[in-house]
Amino acid sequence: MTVTFKRGVHLNYSNKKATRALSVRDFVSEEVRLITSMHIGAPSTPCVKKGDHVLMGQVIAEPVGFLGIPVHASVSGEVTNVGMIPYIGEANVQCITIANDFKDEWVELKPLGDVETVDPALIVPAIKNAGICGMGGASFPTHVKLSPKPEQKCNVVLVNGAECETHLTCDHRLMLESGEKIIGGLRAVMRALNVDKGVICIEDNKPDAIESMQILAARSQGISVQVLKTKYPQGGEKQLIEVVTKKQVPAGKLPIDVGAVVVNVGTCAAIYDAIVYGKPVVSRITTVTGCVKEPANLRVRIGTVVEDMIGACGGFSEEPGKIAFGGGMTGLCIPNTDIPMAKSTNGIVVYNDKDARSIDEGPCIRCGKCVAACPIGLNPYLIKRAADADKLDVAKSLYVNDCILCGCCSYECPSRRWLTASFKIVKQKLAAQAKAKGGNAK
Ligand code: SF4
Ligand code: SF4
Repeated sequence: MTVTFKRGVHLNYSNKKATRALSVRDFVSEEVRLITSMHIGAPSTPCVKKGDHVLMGQVIAEPVGFLGIPVHASVSGEVTNVGMIPYIGEANVQCITIANDFKDEWVELKPLGDVETVDPALIVPAIKNAGICGMGGASFPTHVKLSPKPEQKCNVVLVNGAECETHLTCDHRLMLESGEKIIGGLRAVMRALNVDKGVICIEDNKPDAIESMQILAARSQGISVQVLKTKYPQGGEKQLIEVVTKKQVPAGKLPIDVGAVVVNVGTCAAIYDAIVYGKPVVSRITTVTGCVKEPANLRVRIGTVVEDMIGACGGFSEEPGKIAFGGGMTGLCIPNTDIPMAKSTNGIVVYNDKDARSIDEGPCIRCGKCVAACPIGLNPYLIKRAADADKLDVAKSLYVNDCILCGCCSYECPSRRWLTASFKIVKQKLAAQAKAKGGNAK
């Protein structure tokens, strides 16, 4: 049976056609630039210097703090620079540049063996050591997600294969081409959390992936496939949990508070590689599409520069207006093509000048379409009024911190009000306020 959540929006997914039938293609560049802040949490600390020779999979930046994960060399070769580079949001971030010697000489790997027989206590530490964070775009460190407090019990692991964003097809291709890794990674997570139920969630616009994963799931104990209606943001954690478990994650709470853990399909595949082969995250599949001559799903080394990836896709097909990491609803504009992709970069979308043009916002006509679209059940036009007046306390009382920045309200607004963009700024201000007070934004 196909299921879905309340509200949300129906998007035009025709832009997926350019890449969804194309097999994943490998591309390896002459240089990689690995930033030390690819995950949510404190940046890792570089432990190599200019001139060092590094092996593929070698730790080049050590984790810092509770959320910390290491960064690994994604090629073998020589470190040519350790320094700051401008990145998304005008922030400067630390970056380690490696010139590829194209020998792919690996550091000594320490596989743990079969996912069904490995000691469950070793799984989460191995995930941390492999530098795994949410590959679906969230970049939250996976070992933290898989370390519930003693009073928190996980009953079900949901695997997010919804890929509800526009343009992106990398998860779709991964399910078709590496489904056994997804199943294996899920089994490892289930064993680490001592859970006997795993559900792979896929939207009904990917019938081939559904069929393929159903065949694999039938061979694996405790795993099933849940078909979801195609609707945005079906892949949101709270929406997936509501649909599959019939439980709502309360405001300010986490999925584990209702007994669920959600991991992306790409994260599952990375977990499989970490356990079975001892391999850290050194590559991923990224959809490169929009105004490029040969749209593709490229398997690239982490730290590949955008310009090289666009070159691998034949270059621009027309003058670009803007380029974003991620799909059309939640993608982040990048400042230039000289920056590298990261572990969570699931897509690079090039828009032409017409599609990139921003539209002036009009007045609110109180039509209520934003309210009808919000999957969280918020009141976007009231939050926007508070945001425009810089009344942070009012916005907070309207639960702006529960906004998942999905963009549904902005998408539906006939006056093109900059709702989601305003809410992002308000959330950032509230987080800064809470940090200054030494507390939590919630
Ligand atoms: S961006 Fe926030 S307020 Fe707007 S629809 Fe999404 S969750 Fe609701
Ligand atoms: S959709 Fe736009 S115009 Fe309509 S109520 Fe919401 S903010 Fe106002």
